[in-house]
Amino acid sequence: MGKTVFLDREECIGCGMCQDICPEVFELDEEGKARVIKPQGGPEDLVEQAIDACPVSCIAFKE
Ligand code: SF4
Repeated sequence: MGKTVFLDREECIGCGMCQDICPEVFELDEEGKARVIKPQGGPEDLVEQAIDACPVSCIAFKE
């Protein structure tokens, strides 16, 4: 099984960077916070970029 994307919504400040970088995996919802819409099988390089860009480091990518 591949890696899975996790996101701590308590920490998310809704900046939208993750969605801008990788809309296939991340989406801002009606609460203005990001959620993971594709936890597995998305483009790993873009998930890594989103992790690096997140200002509160609330995204993780684990086996
Ligand atoms: S980059 Fe981080 S803080 Fe910004 S919307 Fe995505 S998860 Fe939330």
